[in-house]
Amino acid sequence: MILLKSIPKVDKFIAKDEFKGMSTPLISTISKKILQNLRDSILNNEIEEINENDLINKVKEEYEKIIEPSLQKVINATGVIVHTNLGRSLINEKAFLKAKDIATSYNNLEYDLEKGKRGERYAHISKVICQTLGCEDVLIVNNNASAVFLILNTFAKNKEVVVSRGELVEIGGSFRVPDVMASSGAKLVEIGTTNKTHLRDYENAVCEQTSMLMKVHKSNYSIEGFSSEVDFEDIVKVAQENNIIDYYDMGSGHFIDLPYGLNESEPSVKKIMEYNPSLLSFSGDKLLGSVQAGIIIVKKELIAKLKKNQLLRMLRVDKITLALLEENVKSILLGSIDDIPTLKMLFTKTSKLKENATMLKTAIDDICQCEIIETQTVIGGGTTPNKKIPTIALAVKFKNYKPNKIEKLLRAKNIVGRIENEQFLLDFRTIQEGDIKIIENAIREIA
Ligand SMILES: *Cc1c(COP(=O)(O)O)cnc(C)c1O
Repeated sequence: MILLKSIPKVDKFIAKDEFKGMSTPLISTISKKILQNLRDSILNNEIEEINENDLINKVKEEYEKIIEPSLQKVINATGVIVHTNLGRSLINEKAFLKAKDIATSYNNLEYDLEKGKRGERYAHISKVICQTLGCEDVLIVNNNASAVFLILNTFAKNKEVVVSRGELVEIGGSFRVPDVMASSGAKLVEIGTTNKTHLRDYENAVCEQTSMLMKVHKSNYSIEGFSSEVDFEDIVKVAQENNIIDYYDMGSGHFIDLPYGLNESEPSVKKIMEYNPSLLSFSGDKLLGSVQAGIIIVKKELIAKLKKNQLLRMLRVDKITLALLEENVKSILLGSIDDIPTLKMLFTKTSKLKENATMLKTAIDDICQCEIIETQTVIGGGTTPNKKIPTIALAVKFKNYKPNKIEKLLRAKNIVGRIENEQFLLDFRTIQEGDIKIIENAIREIA
């Protein structure tokens, strides 16, 4: 076991010039582990000599792996605008700079500057959302899932909540409406059938124990053919007649009319507000195009009760979230839709997408055979299920690579596209103009 004696001593090893400028505690931890492994290998007769350079390189490699950022920028060339796996909505840079100002300094988050005493965390965002939507009050929580949970827990614990069987959905990430209800303490009363629910089903279900009539956006699926559901407008009326709460989990809430006739299946929050509802909730980072958050609106009296629930302390949001949301809603209020990347992408004309696609095609024409394709994509994120919107894509082709090989090579460079009809596509609906050059360079490298 002469080899054991040649194992470098940790102190000496980590003092080597090769590790200069690196974090000594981290180098030390990694080195100890690697030297221990070396000892084990020697004892198991797995190696015959020690190469110190190899050891140094191993430590350096491990070090780089640890400090390399795990969360990285990705170019979304899938065409899916609200792509939950790719971070959903992009934050506008101006809004981000505003939020940076707030986050990197002290601020009036819970301070009333006029009165010089404690203020309300939610007052800032409430002002701008109430102005935009005409609601009485606003509460912001961690995400829409927590909004659903907080609402059910506050108003329906040990009481009944009536929901149509057609709306007992599972959303991505195994968020299941019946399971969320059960854990909030609410008792689910299912009405209707999978394909049809009538107004009389709601009326018949109401009893002493009923606290709420709840409608849930079907998120990522749709029922076609022999089917009907009850408009929220009528549900609100039944709730009011019976003096109980009506609540619509809208999933993705948006404040403006959507293009491509999408509004018919996905009415805006403004439209729903015309029905005089009690409670609505929706996500901050779906079609609203902002940061992860759950937005709860409408009746002041109900929101006051939500604010008294101890759970709110666990679901509350940070100043950064509130600052970003405030800027986003202000952009909508002022009609600056182009300031909201999610909406800008949705509203971009295909002629503009074609221009961008042509720009990339021209730039790489010498190295690959590309073709501009008119096709369709979806918004995604559990919005507008099964509804297609037009888009322009560039089919990238190389003689010796199959589409899934191209997909893999570009994915290794953080460019995520999609395969359609056995072609690899870069969809310009979601490609940001500033990223076209990066894609060009990546394609040059793999060529
Ligand atoms: C997306 C969605 C949720 C969950 O929203 P998050 O903001 O992702 O927590 C809840 N309900 C419906 C109907 C949804 O579409």
